[in-house]
Amino acid sequence: MEASSHQASEIAREAIKRLAARKLPPTPENFRRAYFEVLGQAPSGAVWPEALRQLLAQWEGYQAGLTQAKKREMLERVLINFGNEPDQLAVKLAALARSWAESGSAAAALVPEDAAEPVAATGVGGTDAAGPLLGQCLTDFAGLSRDLWPDLAARSEALARRVSVPGRAVADADVAAMAGLWREILVRAEDNHAVLGGLKRVLALLLANIGELVSQDAWLSGQTETMRTALADGVNPHALFQVEESLKELVQRQKQLKGSLHDAEEKLKRLISAFILRIGELSASTGHYNARIKGYAARLAEADDIAKLGDVIDGLSGDMAQMDAEIGRSHSELVAAKGHVEEAETRIRALESELEAVSALVREDQLTGALNRRGMDEACRRELARAERMATPFSVGLLDIDNFKRLNDSLGHQAGDQALVHLAGVVRQMLRPTDSLARYGGEEFLLLLPNSDLADAEKVMLRLQRELTRQYFLHDNRRVLITFSAGVAQWAPGEAQAGLLGRADAAMYRAKAAGRNRVERA
Ligand code: GH3
Ligand code: MG
Ligand code: MG
Repeated sequence: MEASSHQASEIAREAIKRLAARKLPPTPENFRRAYFEVLGQAPSGAVWPEALRQLLAQWEGYQAGLTQAKKREMLERVLINFGNEPDQLAVKLAALARSWAESGSAAAALVPEDAAEPVAATGVGGTDAAGPLLGQCLTDFAGLSRDLWPDLAARSEALARRVSVPGRAVADADVAAMAGLWREILVRAEDNHAVLGGLKRVLALLLANIGELVSQDAWLSGQTETMRTALADGVNPHALFQVEESLKELVQRQKQLKGSLHDAEEKLKRLISAFILRIGELSASTGHYNARIKGYAARLAEADDIAKLGDVIDGLSGDMAQMDAEIGRSHSELVAAKGHVEEAETRIRALESELEAVSALVREDQLTGALNRRGMDEACRRELARAERMATPFSVGLLDIDNFKRLNDSLGHQAGDQALVHLAGVVRQMLRPTDSLARYGGEEFLLLLPNSDLADAEKVMLRLQRELTRQYFLHDNRRVLITFSAGVAQWAPGEAQAGLLGRADAAMYRAKAAGRNRVERA
């Protein structure tokens, strides 16, 4: 005992020297390694007591992945192989204990190399150490491919079970089965080009539809015809008023529809950009993987020993894990996205046709309730025809609010909107039933004044100016004075609408130039 503890301390001293020589910190782990290194080289007399102590400690200890039966089997193998060589046996037993002290899998890999008999060459000349490694790869692949390729996963699992039997060498039949499995994987990976092709076709379709969607003129244009017939010449002001009333509801509906259509379009656009991103990723990754998988196939064909096969499997298994995740994701995204796109398209079609139907009837500006440009064109055409037919005067007054930008800037855009609503309200109060008000542009309004000559029109505009000094626009209980500059023009027989409005516009600009808040005659 004395001698053995003396030798143990010698070994420890030598271990510390080695740590110092290698400039390694004397951590327990480093010390343990150095100790066993010295132990492995020490003369057998010195090795035995430590070897047994370590073996006993590890025999009784717990190591992940190592059962007592497995440890017994390993110990027996070392005893059979080295039982007749005491010196070697001590070293091998110490190595065995060391391998147990490390992880279970490390022990499994280490023991056959160090201690086990070479396995009879029933397979491709490897050892049974390849079994667990291959088994792990196959199990990993099975786990990864379960969702995408359940049949391949099952095959891979069955193979994993066969090659993982302890002590059993990998058989030729297993290798053949594995090669078959990898070939199948390659074929399936090729098939993913079909998925890619599908994605591209859907994208092309989507882009074509977006093209249609963004050109909203599709529903904006060609809408005048319906109303033109509905409000043909000869409709009396009362009927016109009624039509306008009923249009209020349509205007509301149109507003809602526009909102919904916009949302649907936004959704579709987001979907498409996600698609483009995914296709980019997918084509980049499958291209890359395809090349690598072909490389693996070639190496697989040449692999004549288990170590090479193991490398191929390791690489392939790693790539498959990533590829499977990516393709699996793309595939389910494609399915989901197709559903969304179809839904969105159907919704957009429905919204568009509804909006088209509604918009075709709308002739009103949504903010102020005045006629919009379309309504104005029609009213103007009608009045010109009537004036022509009846030989009555017809005049227009074009007004542009003064310094409206300043009002917007100081009170906010919403207050600006309310100011426009206020102005339109005041105008409507003082118009005759046969007169109409149209919103000509942002803060420009046109008054259509049948049976009025230039002087009448001027009077109307001046009266409106006065009225605005009585009815202030109230913002946050503060009175805000709205003034405008206006140009009035009387229609000359034979004159086109554009000519009449052009003259009124020029007069209005003169009013601006002359200092604003005034009315100029054309
Ligand atoms: P001027 O006296 O020369 O007409 O000056 P102005 O500031 O009124 O003229 P300008 O044409 O430079 O600006 C008109 C402003 O009216 C600019 C625009 O932001 C605003 N505007 C146009 N439409 C609307 C609208 O619907 N709501 C609001 N709040 N502002 C509008
Ligand atoms: Mg303006
Ligand atoms: Mg203005």
